[in-house]
Parts: sequence; structure tokens; C-alpha cells
Amino acid sequence: MTSSHLYDLIIVGAGPSGLTAGIYAMRAALDTLLIDKGLPGGQMNNTDTVENWPGSETISGSELGAAMASHAKAYGLEIRQQEVREIEPGIDCHLVRLDEGEELRTLSLIIAAGGSPRKLEVPGEAENYGKGVSYCAVCDGFFFRNKTVVVVGGGDSALEESLYLAKIATKVYLVHRRDAFRGGMILQKRVLAEKKIEIRWNTVISAINSDQGGITGVSTEDTQSGAKGQLACDGVFIFIGFDPDNSLIPAGTRMNADGYVVTDSKCETNHPGIFVAGDLREKYVKQIITAAADGCVAAQAAARYVENRKDNQP
Ligand code: NAP
Repeated sequence: MTSSHLYDLIIVGAGPSGLTAGIYAMRAALDTLLIDKGLPGGQMNNTDTVENWPGSETISGSELGAAMASHAKAYGLEIRQQEVREIEPGIDCHLVRLDEGEELRTLSLIIAAGGSPRKLEVPGEAENYGKGVSYCAVCDGFFFRNKTVVVVGGGDSALEESLYLAKIATKVYLVHRRDAFRGGMILQKRVLAEKKIEIRWNTVISAINSDQGGITGVSTEDTQSGAKGQLACDGVFIFIGFDPDNSLIPAGTRMNADGYVVTDSKCETNHPGIFVAGDLREKYVKQIITAAADGCVAAQAAARYVENRKDNQP
């Protein structure tokens, strides 16, 4: 059923880019709706502490997400918890189809759908997801108090979450496929100084092993010597990057080979009036602050687009 209401702007996704877009859109007096299938905050809800949001030396990710959501709601932003099924670009307006058959009409759209953790794709990973295999230390770390865990990855997420897990677990094996970390220097120094973290360089995981009682360990392979080994552990936390969620991106939208949407400096895609903000957009640095900045840019550009459309109406 198509709604007769025509929104100025619909934002899909309530992470830092979507919520910031909501704040700027409401301040620009756009008739705006924000839709997200989950809780406002997005990936911030899976982050223990954020230490690089200017003005807060340290703040929990979920606290920052909740603060952004209440800031946006203070301007009257409507946030709907529902799943978007499809987006269809149009000339007069764009259509947003929801999971229960409802169809919304809007002059402009900001897609801020982010993405999800990349999978290792090894035997034992999918079968043990939620039973010892996790992609979120803040969500599942609690279950590994005084136990041994393996963390996989060498970026900021793996380093940050290893430090978080070291506060809970007895031992953390940090398994990285190279001999140097990709993550930032401050985190590297902290990880190297943490006695509970043992780093296994040049090592990949070939299988996650389990029995009736849960995870028993991982099978490893040295990337230099080819030597095979085993690490006994109770849980495996995987932080090997991110896959953009481009499932709602309409056909014909310009994307790069990794599935990120290519936009111009206004965050606008090649479909006029459809903008992409946050981690789904091709860009150099993916941080909460760059996601928020995208949200600001996209909302300002959407406001200008809507204004032009209304000025040029017959
Ligand atoms: P990332 O920076 O892309 O790092 C992924 C890590 O996983 C890399 O070390 C990579 O190894 C490794 N990896 C990738 N595929 C693998 C595979 N199949 N098997 C084994 N290892 C694999 O991802 P991220 O750490 O999730 O961070 C994503 C973005 O968010 C980054 O831009 C990061 O700076 C940002 N972030 C920032 C903060 C912060 O500032 N506090 C916190 C979290 C995330 P190689 O190094 O060999 O490629």
C-alpha cells in the first residue's frame, strides 16, 4: 500500500551518519523519517569505549549512540524501528518499501546502512556462531570470564577488543596473519604491554574446533613455515574487517569493486536525490567522526536538493 504522504527526506540507518543526518535535517526543517531495523547507534552499540570522539576523552559506544539518538529526537525526528526491503529510485519521488508491504514516498533519501563484520569462512565458524564464535566483545565477552579466548585480526578493532577481553579473560591469544599490525600506534603499544595478551604473528586459522561442550580450540597454520598447530581456547572473537551492506542500493548505482558506493563530495550517488553516508560510502577513513561528517554533508545537500525541487514545481 503506497502512502499518500510525500516526505522531504527518508534516512535509512541509525548509526552515527544516519543520526547526524537526522539532526541536520530537522534543523533544516525537512519533513524527515529515519528507519532502522535495530536499535539506534548501529556499530557503536558493539564498541566498548570510544576515545577519539572530540570532547569526550572516553565514552562507551552505546552511550554515545543513545546521546546522538536523543539529540535527534529533541528536534522532533521520528525514528521508526522497521526493516526496509527495497528502494526504488524515481523521477518525481523515490519509493521505500517496508517489510510489511507498506510503500513510502520521498523526495530525497540518505542510505546510511553501514555493514557487517567480515567472516573468516573456515570450518566451524558458522556452526559455532553464538556458541563461542563472536564478532562482538562487548556483547559476548562476559561469557568468557576467567577463560581463554582467541582474537583474530590486526586492525584497530582486533587490538581494541583484545584489550577489552584481557580485562575479562585469563588469556587472550591475538592471531594475526602478518608480522605487523594495521591498527593505530597507541593501541599497538597498549596491546604489546598487556601481559594477558599473547600474539601469534604470521598465523592463520584453518578451523574452529568444538565438541558437545562448546569450542575446544582452533587449528592454525604458520604463513611462513607452513607449520600446523593447535591453540586450546573457549571462545573465538573475529575482527577481520567489514563488508558494506549494499543490499538496498538500487541497481545502476555506481559502486567500487569492494561493494562501497561511490558518491560525489556531497555524498550524492549517480541517482539525483539519493545520498549515501557513513561506512557504506567509498572513502579513505572510516571512523565515527567521518560517518557523522558524512551525515551532516548528505543532509545539507538533501535540503538543497529538496528546496530546488520545490522551487521548480509547476
Ligand atoms: P581493518 O582495519 O580492515 O583490519 C582488518 C584486519 O583483519 C587486518 O589486520 C587484516 O590483515 C585482517 N584480515 C582481513 N581479512 C582477514 C582474513 N581473511 N584472515 C585473517 N585476517 C584478516 O578492520 P577493522 O579493525 O574492523 O577496522 C575497520 C575500520 O574501522 C578501520 O578504518 C579502522 O581504523 C576503524 N576503527 C577505528 C577504531 C578506532 O579508531 N578506535 C576502532 C575500530 C575500528 P592485514 O593487516 O594483513 O590486511
